[in-house]
Amino acid sequence: MKDILNFINGEYVRNASGKTFEKRTPIDNTLIGTVYEAGKPEVDAAVASAKAALEGPWGKISVVERVELLDAVANEINRRFDDFLAAEVADTGKPNHLASHVDIPRGAANFKIFADTIKNAATESFRMATPDGRTALSYGLRVPRGVIAVVCPWNLPLLLMTWKVGPALACGNTVVVKPSEETPSTAALLGEVMNKVGVPKGVYNVVQGFGPDSAGAFLTSHPDVNGITFTGETRTGTAIMKAGADGIRPVSLELGGKNAALVFADCDFQVAVDTVTRSVFENCGQVCLGTERVYVERPIFDKFVNALKEKAEAMIPGRPDDPATKIGPVVSQEHRQKVLSYYQKAREEGANIVTGGGVPDMPADLKDGAWVQPTIWTGLPESSPVVREEIFGPCCHIQPFDTEEEALRMANDTPYGLATSIYTSDIGRANRLAAKIDVGLCWINSWFLRDLRTAFGGSKQSGIGREGGVHSLEFYTELRNVMIKF
Ligand code: NAD
Repeated sequence: MKDILNFINGEYVRNASGKTFEKRTPIDNTLIGTVYEAGKPEVDAAVASAKAALEGPWGKISVVERVELLDAVANEINRRFDDFLAAEVADTGKPNHLASHVDIPRGAANFKIFADTIKNAATESFRMATPDGRTALSYGLRVPRGVIAVVCPWNLPLLLMTWKVGPALACGNTVVVKPSEETPSTAALLGEVMNKVGVPKGVYNVVQGFGPDSAGAFLTSHPDVNGITFTGETRTGTAIMKAGADGIRPVSLELGGKNAALVFADCDFQVAVDTVTRSVFENCGQVCLGTERVYVERPIFDKFVNALKEKAEAMIPGRPDDPATKIGPVVSQEHRQKVLSYYQKAREEGANIVTGGGVPDMPADLKDGAWVQPTIWTGLPESSPVVREEIFGPCCHIQPFDTEEEALRMANDTPYGLATSIYTSDIGRANRLAAKIDVGLCWINSWFLRDLRTAFGGSKQSGIGREGGVHSLEFYTELRNVMIKF
């Protein structure tokens, strides 16, 4: 049992109210920590320390020194790899092999990639003649936006948090992070890293708690916050955008999805099956880019459904440190109820349950964990809530299609626009569809393959803005124009 604290102005602090909440692991529901919820006084203190740090040493160091510090942060996370791994796995229940290949290394890499980006970021410059016969030179100057509120989800806690903290700090801002109430640990642990490598006090702060009437709402409505970057559900994004409207604070929103995979008969069948297996079931289906709608060209429909069924049934649930474990629990009992409610809805609507649809039979010591079965349905109409709403669990619905136009129409028939993957050996078709599919990210014969220099974000109700590489500079800096007459 550990105390999970707020991190404000370089120090770990509890709170004035004495309010705490329990953190239980979804593996077996045992209590692993007591979290000290930040109230208004703690959020005020965190924002004040972030604001003051902008005027302190952090605001005065050169870009080169800042970059060195961020490199040191990445190195220190890697040095303490096992501590971060243990904290992330206990909070989320995800298998060690997943967290040690994705969450922790990419969480550290986010500091390095944005340190490199800022080192090489250029701005525009124009020279022109003035009407009185002299010359004017103007150039762009990127300045930090100020105090950035970073509000995070629970599915990839360290990775998605540093994806925002990395560029925010690289650009010279200071941050106040509000991790998900489900996954408070790695954000808190990162405070130790910041202190160890000498990041000045107040540059990185963490406030623990919930959304409404808690740390999340107090932070996003705080008048001294200059920008809000958020990853989470579309509904929460709407509330955050409203909070940002007061004081005209910019928001960057990475929101939900109901992502499609289009599998054509001419695809490399094994690549399609293996990749769709990952995109549906990895992280127990709790990946914003994951696939919940699969459209398969009719000639290979039955073969594909059977192959995916076989893969789903090979997903052995178990303890994170057991090498045989292929899938963990979902993040919490509450989320499990949400996923199971869709399993129930699919049954009521007459879905053909290809596999799963319930709770796996777990050994006695894991019975109280948040386990759900990997599940595949066919036979539902496209209008079903199961096919339209984001479930965020290890499940998908598979629908046959006959023409490219029909596949495109079904893929685009959603209020979301985050990601799609297309499986075909016809490169002309792949590029034709990539141009017509209304999403921020389109993969061809792959999924989750990322070059961190490229733009990341969603269309329609999946988000506002793009992050990654130089695109992150648009949100984390103000571009000032300087004009000189000579
Ligand atoms: P969530 O929206 O419930 O919570 C996200 C964060 O917002 C949490 O820290 C929560 O405490 C906080 N919050 C909730 N209400 C708030 C309010 N009114 N004001 C301020 N803060 C508030 O999301 P979640 O359940 O943690 O994460 C899953 C969701 O995240 C899914 O919809 C998934 O698609 C999405 N997601 C999107 C991306 C992306 O890049 N587009 C990446 C990962 C997850």
